[in-house]
Amino acid sequence: MTDVILVLNAGSSSIKFRAYYIEGGELGLGLHGQVEGLFSAPHFIAHDRHGEAAGEKRWGDGAKLSHEEGIQFISQFLTSHRGDNRLVAVGHRVVHGGEKFAKAVLATPDVVDELDKLTPLAPLHQPHNLKPIRIVAAMHPHLPQVACFDTAFHRSQTELAQAFALPESITARGVRRYGFHGLSYEYIAQALPNFSKRAAQGRTIVAHLGNGASLCAMHAGRSVASTMGFTAVDGLPMGTRCGSLDPGVILYLLEELKMTPQAIEDLIYKESGLLGVSGVSGDMRKLLASAAPRARFAIDLYTYRIGREIGSLAASLQGLDALVLTAGIGENSAEIRRRAAEQAAWLGIELDAAANEAGGPCISTPSSKVEVWTIPTDEELMIARHTRAVVDAL
Ligand code: ADP
Repeated sequence: MTDVILVLNAGSSSIKFRAYYIEGGELGLGLHGQVEGLFSAPHFIAHDRHGEAAGEKRWGDGAKLSHEEGIQFISQFLTSHRGDNRLVAVGHRVVHGGEKFAKAVLATPDVVDELDKLTPLAPLHQPHNLKPIRIVAAMHPHLPQVACFDTAFHRSQTELAQAFALPESITARGVRRYGFHGLSYEYIAQALPNFSKRAAQGRTIVAHLGNGASLCAMHAGRSVASTMGFTAVDGLPMGTRCGSLDPGVILYLLEELKMTPQAIEDLIYKESGLLGVSGVSGDMRKLLASAAPRARFAIDLYTYRIGREIGSLAASLQGLDALVLTAGIGENSAEIRRRAAEQAAWLGIELDAAANEAGGPCISTPSSKVEVWTIPTDEELMIARHTRAVVDAL
């Protein structure tokens, strides 16, 4: 009998799942897939460990599936394909662990209630991340569940790096920089020794460029600074999030344009970034394929901002040994990699154009002062590793 860890990564309209077999010291990917379009046109798809199609179902346009129904469907699918396997734990991605949770924890009902209180700090993610924990607990009360946080990796940052220049009474309420995408950065930190001793041990900036986007400055694999702050809307422009904004803009929107807090939340999380600037799409592939001048401008702004933030993080590291690009855009778009590297050429970065077009992993020239890598991230595997460690320690 093989023990299996199930990883769930739930968003507002999708639930991704991955089953990992515990095989000796390793975690092997088994059945994996997702239900997406929960509230519009639900679609389930699954693949087996060889990448072969293992199941598919469509509920049709206009159909609706609650998170509970989605998880029940996944659960039934996994049970019917269980074979000789035993589910030993479920690991969940939870975007915000606040000040208290600096590492993955057993998600008891009390812990989940505490994590619920952080919802105002991550309104678009936290409730959806917590829902599946409660649903699974109701289905299997004795099955260990583990919450793995996107903020935890950044708790190694100094007090200075985490502080806003606000009065202490406000800081004491937890208004500080937390940083996100930590599961992705931690995975990259653990993978780096396989690629480069210099990048693993030195001063490295990792750019997680997906729908959400941020940069993390690492020294010897530990987070030193990051572009995301109190919430996941800070830092770089993203698919639909604006990134860093003069706080005075929010006051202007409230007082002069009489926008409600909800309208401002929608504006900065859902209607800005690549989508808002281009008016075309928040999807980088579509923007790259578009001839619209605003699409070109959105990409210009995106790469310009990456360049500026690389400069800022290089200053926090007092130099730079390596730049790593990852996630949907960082792993797949040679053009954005090239343009981001151009913005940081003053740091001594020289890209190897052919290696970049070929997808790396090393995409800098031998004479480049800074190594540049493109490395696929794997947040779900990181969750499985944490889940296993927490369960092994029980
Ligand atoms: P998420 O943050 O939702 O996990 P991903 O890491 O999958 O997102 O990144 C999604 C982004 O990656 C989208 O903007 C998508 O257009 C972009 N992307 C994926 N493949 C390519 C590609 N070949 N060229 C350019 N952009 C790409």
